[in-house]
Amino acid sequence: MTGRFANIIVDISHENVDRPFQYRIPDALMGELEVGMAVMIPFGRANKRIKGYVMEITNRVDYDEMKLKEVDSIVKDGISAQADSIKLAWWIKENYGSTMIAALKTVLPVKRKIRQIVKKTIICKVDAVVAAQKAEEFEAKHQKAKARLMRELAAQPVLPQSLVTGKLNVTAQTIQALEKAGLLAVHVEDLYRSALPQNLSLSSSKKQLSENQGRIVDSIAADFKAGVRQTYLIHGVTGSGKTEVYMELIERIIAEGRQAIMLIPEIALTYQTLVRFYQRFGDRVSVMNSRLSAGERSDQYERAARGDIDIIIGPRSALFAPFERLGLVIMDEEHEGSYKSESMPKYHAREVAGELCRMKDASLVLGSATPSIESYYRAKKGKIKMFVLKERLAGGQLPKVYVEDLRAELKSGNRSVFSRRLYRLMDDRLKKGEQTMLFINRRGYAGFVSCRSCGHVMKCPHCDVSLSEHTDCYRKLSRLVCHYCGYEMPGVTSCPKCGSKYILGFRAGTQQIEELLNKEFPAARVLRMDADTTRNKDSYEQILSQFADGAADILVGTQMIVKGHDFARVTLVGILAADMSLHAGDYRAGERTFQLLTQAAGRAGRSALPGEVVIQTYQPEHYAVVHAAKQDYEGFYEEEISYRDLMVYPPVAHMMAVLVLSEDALTGAEHAGVLVEQVKRQFGDKRPIIVGPTEALIGKINDVYRYIFYIKHRDYQVLTTIKDALEQTLHVREWNVDSVQFDFDPMNHY
Ligand code: ADP
Ligand code: ZN
Ligand code: ZN
Repeated sequence: MTGRFANIIVDISHENVDRPFQYRIPDALMGELEVGMAVMIPFGRANKRIKGYVMEITNRVDYDEMKLKEVDSIVKDGISAQADSIKLAWWIKENYGSTMIAALKTVLPVKRKIRQIVKKTIICKVDAVVAAQKAEEFEAKHQKAKARLMRELAAQPVLPQSLVTGKLNVTAQTIQALEKAGLLAVHVEDLYRSALPQNLSLSSSKKQLSENQGRIVDSIAADFKAGVRQTYLIHGVTGSGKTEVYMELIERIIAEGRQAIMLIPEIALTYQTLVRFYQRFGDRVSVMNSRLSAGERSDQYERAARGDIDIIIGPRSALFAPFERLGLVIMDEEHEGSYKSESMPKYHAREVAGELCRMKDASLVLGSATPSIESYYRAKKGKIKMFVLKERLAGGQLPKVYVEDLRAELKSGNRSVFSRRLYRLMDDRLKKGEQTMLFINRRGYAGFVSCRSCGHVMKCPHCDVSLSEHTDCYRKLSRLVCHYCGYEMPGVTSCPKCGSKYILGFRAGTQQIEELLNKEFPAARVLRMDADTTRNKDSYEQILSQFADGAADILVGTQMIVKGHDFARVTLVGILAADMSLHAGDYRAGERTFQLLTQAAGRAGRSALPGEVVIQTYQPEHYAVVHAAKQDYEGFYEEEISYRDLMVYPPVAHMMAVLVLSEDALTGAEHAGVLVEQVKRQFGDKRPIIVGPTEALIGKINDVYRYIFYIKHRDYQVLTTIKDALEQTLHVREWNVDSVQFDFDPMNHY
């Protein structure tokens, strides 16, 4: 790219510098500077040296040429972004609301180059006799170092450079001089710190695809060859052979000279998965995950940029691997919440992948046993091409599922956490030496209040989500609050539906369950897995492999245990409180519950031994529970989508959460109010639905107050236009740019 001027975005997160600044390129850097490079520039009146990124190189002058400052230097260990990454960053900024520099940092997951480990070897280019002769000549000229090295090379024609510069004490200049003289050569080899297991052999573990699998691969590959690009969804239960399909597709894409990104939720990115890819593709595949060191990360990034690899596997950030010839992005378990970024910009990897594929002329393949309502909705509208894989391939049938009504248990005097059936079946498994998994659904815990007699749940009359219990610590008064609209009512002491006194917030944890098991089944060996027991880097894998090795009879855990390993001896899965996630207080609660129940149930009976599943709930009639018990996705979807439609929730409509942060409560509330008024005034004719503002679910974090409001509209464009206008207001009023955060189609509530 040629040009005398560079448009540069500066590395400061301020709304008023969130635009490119123009600099002159000094002669010394002319031709060297490229788009995406990190540079040092003088900035502001004091000409402070700060870092920036080159967005564009041009001959067009946008300002008074005489006043332009010069680029100082190129940041040596800076990672440069490809032009496409910059375009993608721009798209992210526009669609999710953030500063350009935050978006740029998102697409540059590697912050700087870490010096590679290079292995240099010195090779003698003359035979031993000549080398010895040269050594004597140097000796005679009192060139001691040269003599030393040649003598050594006469005895040993290949030497590691480290030995030469170290033990032999020969300088790099001396080596260079001898190289020039044609006496030796320096061989450089990059020792990329591989992120993959080192001692695995390639094996042709390639499976002969079933007819169904083959049809999917052929169809997508044929589209690709014909230049048709679109999004595909493979809807198939766990074990139905999706991963085999992905691998075959990747192979076909590579054969076309293209590269592939394989996205997997971090928690499902197990050793087992890696080994499968490695055995098939060898060192053409690489991994990016949070466990890599900065050096390993930087190496993988470099290798990708140089085209040394064809496949990157990793969680959502792997999407930003700098592949020049990207042809395919695969997103396994596309319904997973972890695909959405929780920090600004709050992008969803599925949508960014879609945009990336458009830019790169690539295909996007989504896969899931329980597709997100978004993707299924788009498939039904014909915007995504869907394939279905029905049967499990490695044997094993779907388990038998029992739904146990905890209200009935209470009526008949059982106050234990375990229903009578679950207790009986656990006892049976212990006797048979088979394994049990107990799953406690903690994620949804938001202090929802339900009646243990009739199952009635206290809900917001306006939003149809559960109210959360807040207890005033001074007066011990409880209030019930809606975290979408702020609706409040006093806490209840009896059930408004049946009058029972057993109406209370739901509490239970993995630790209590573990203690209870130790009491009820003293002979059972119990393993526990939750946030507490998995603090260490590898403890997650360790607990799972201990359990897989039969080191325990019962594994108790949170949603973490539903992913990853296959346990051949697990024949019973108990879901202790299926209700929990139904009442997370947000519109995705039903979807998440259905997914969790379906996945948890899928853990039983993965081999020849038949499996049983017990779902315990206060609401056996809830459609998420009913359809999960039948493993009936379609039935669930139909009910869920009509709820979303009725309540104007995504994906039928779109929803933007606006989080307003402030160090003092009054300002926060006031700012939120100002923004809401602005939306009403400026966009009233577009009829957006405004919910809130109200205090957020977590009203204060680190002394920063949090206010929230939501805007719903059927047209995404209207929401981004509103976002732009609100950003403008921030700018005009000179509020801190970080004080307002946007979240489109949020995954959680605030
Ligand atoms: P998923 O990704 O849907 O969970 P996998 O691709 O992991 O499914 O397949 C599940 C199991 O079935 C694996 O053990 C895999 O090796 C095996 N498998 C997949 N496809 C075939 C096939 N065509 N023939 C034989 N075994 C297969
Ligand atoms: Zn009741
Ligand atoms: Zn409400």
